[in-house]
Amino acid sequence: MDPAGRFAPSPSGDLHLGNLRTALLAYLFARSTGRRFVLRIDDLDRVRPGAAERQLADLLALGLEWDGDVVRQSERQEAYTDAVGRLAGAGLLYECYCTRREIQQAPAAPHAPQGAYPGTCRNLTEAERAAKLADGRPPALRLRSNVTHFTIADVLHGSYTGIVDDLVLRRNDGTPAYNLTVVVDDYDQGVDQVVRGDDLLSSTPRQAYLAHLLGYAAPTYAHVALALNGDGKRLAKRDGAVTLADQRVLGRSAAAVLRMLVSSLGLEPAPLADLAATFDPLRLPREPWVLVDGAVPDQERHD
Ligand code: GLU
Repeated sequence: MDPAGRFAPSPSGDLHLGNLRTALLAYLFARSTGRRFVLRIDDLDRVRPGAAERQLADLLALGLEWDGDVVRQSERQEAYTDAVGRLAGAGLLYECYCTRREIQQAPAAPHAPQGAYPGTCRNLTEAERAAKLADGRPPALRLRSNVTHFTIADVLHGSYTGIVDDLVLRRNDGTPAYNLTVVVDDYDQGVDQVVRGDDLLSSTPRQAYLAHLLGYAAPTYAHVALALNGDGKRLAKRDGAVTLADQRVLGRSAAAVLRMLVSSLGLEPAPLADLAATFDPLRLPREPWVLVDGAVPDQERHD
């Protein structure tokens, strides 16, 4: 399979300008390196009816065309079950009965990094496990991690080392966890370049470690700066006219929004193919893109 980059939105609502900008970046990274650009809908939770269709329509309105069929996580249960089965077969999973509260209240394990799962269920005896099961709470499945940290390479952040704990791979309602699905999906879609918001950077060592355990090569990562509102918080729907539909109401066409996104990257407006031909990730702005007052970007307000 030819290598690919991707965009993988969660269909929890319309994409906002920050999401669209990340999609544009993922597109430019992929196209500028001769990769396919594939699309996946991460619809295992947080689904709002109709949102996925609107997200796809918005991407097309901007001209961000993808290759092949859209993949939906809700249709890939078998692949996740297989991966869980492989890890279980290698003795790398254990059942965890902890509630969130119990985890918060448990004393941290010695030498465990802050925020890591304290290991409460890691070494339960058979009798302890049977007693917990008899209490009636279904278990989640956690990874029996052999490392506490893992290092990844990121085009924009360089070498980045982050925590790997005994992360949940299957939640106790049976849903495969995001950290597992993203790894399995990227591999199956031929994705060897992951471009996404830098809010996900700290999860990446966990995912790369999981990829390593499953025998997959780690993709190239690029975690891009997010869009922020005037208060310096991550841009959200409540921040005003932030979706393509909102912008349309203000009289801005999709083409005008694209120009705004392109200029937010420090680039001159040009057709997407030309932008891809000259794209240089190392010249991207490193600071977040700040939008204030109904999504009029700073640079537009003052000229
Ligand atoms: N679906 C995730 C989100 O929208 C992103 C997944 C990813 O890019 O790895 O937050």
